[in-house]
Amino acid sequence: MKISKKAAAVAPSATLKIDSAYKQMKASGLDVVGFGAGEPDFDTPAYIKDAAKKALDTGFTKYTPASGTADIKKAVAARMERKYGLKYDADQVIISNGAKHSLYNSIAAITDPGDEIIVIKPYWVTYPELIAMCGGKPVFVEAFEADSFIPKIEAIRSAITEKTIAIILNNPSNPCGCVYDKKTLEEIAELAKEFDLYVISDEIYDELDFNSEFISFPTISEDAKERTILVNGLSKSYAMTGWRIGYTLSSKAIAKAMSSMQSHMTSNPCSIAQFAGTAALEGPQDDLNAMIATFAERKNLICSLINDIDLISCVEPKGAFYVFANISKVKGKKLGDKEIRDSLEFADILLSEELVAVVPGAAFGNDDYIRLSYATSEENIKKGLGRIKDFCLKLK
Ligand code: PMP
Ligand code: GLU
Repeated sequence: MKISKKAAAVAPSATLKIDSAYKQMKASGLDVVGFGAGEPDFDTPAYIKDAAKKALDTGFTKYTPASGTADIKKAVAARMERKYGLKYDADQVIISNGAKHSLYNSIAAITDPGDEIIVIKPYWVTYPELIAMCGGKPVFVEAFEADSFIPKIEAIRSAITEKTIAIILNNPSNPCGCVYDKKTLEEIAELAKEFDLYVISDEIYDELDFNSEFISFPTISEDAKERTILVNGLSKSYAMTGWRIGYTLSSKAIAKAMSSMQSHMTSNPCSIAQFAGTAALEGPQDDLNAMIATFAERKNLICSLINDIDLISCVEPKGAFYVFANISKVKGKKLGDKEIRDSLEFADILLSEELVAVVPGAAFGNDDYIRLSYATSEENIKKGLGRIKDFCLKLK
């Protein structure tokens, strides 16, 4: 039977695929170490779970407005004001089923067939697929390790054509862990103004800027705010990956378009998760601060262990919870008679031989790398990197 061309063209999420292979191996009793999916290993804080129980006990189990409850919208807007001094009205906030859904809504709301959207490469695996699903064309701008993976403004400028409608930024970035400096953000804002582009700013890791100086894109200028669709969510900062709450802040016109689409596609996100999400945003932020401190320590540990391995290296990330490690020296080496020709083979052989799960850089558009998520315990980091070191020592 027929499968549409659009559906057939979609590749499954490599990050989720590796995560599910890892979870299956673990469930079957194997001592596998996972640096795969970016999922905090912490439990959702107790006060958030208590709020969910309250939602159940008080019967908060019915449809809510499709774009989210008034309470959670208010809590999101209040967070933006508290954290960044940004003022948004409730009707500029859309609550969706995870930030992935928010990204889909954002792209769908602005993309017509053939429109081009600039994506910085290495990119998060989902962006090109979502753009293609909306009939658009991702146009890649390469960022390099020597520049700490921050793209050159001239490279962005030269990728702009009369079909370009938007730039997607991911700050702090997955998979590179880079954090954009103010000057680069200002230059991007100027470029967006010059060519009248939207900026979709995916700031889902905004709490995870280890220098605590994170600059949210709409704070750059009033014009930048007007043209930004800001994407964020509760998955990472509150260890709520399974609850599926993401959100956007945008102009009212875009919010209205997204709300209409969502009202037909999914209706509201889970009422209980919205209730708990409101509590997450409004409650004590101590768990969050403790989590950030732990990630910073793990980042230092994993970087020193990676850079202690002869064949692999990494630049120190400034945010998020990923390291993008350079494996170019490993390519062409052999384990027995198995040659490692690319990042996929590196990840496959590492998983089967050493029981360590990493994501091949090819999934993010750069085959010279692998991504390791350090949203896992110090013990796992030491064990996993010990195995990677042994693995590299065996390569000839
Ligand atoms: N953006 C980036 C950069 C991510 O890494 C993720 C990871 N899940 C998401 C968006 C989507 O988050 P969510 O789980 O809320 O859909
Ligand atoms: N965003 C996380 C990652 O990149 C979780 C997996 C996913 O959503 O694809 O690993």
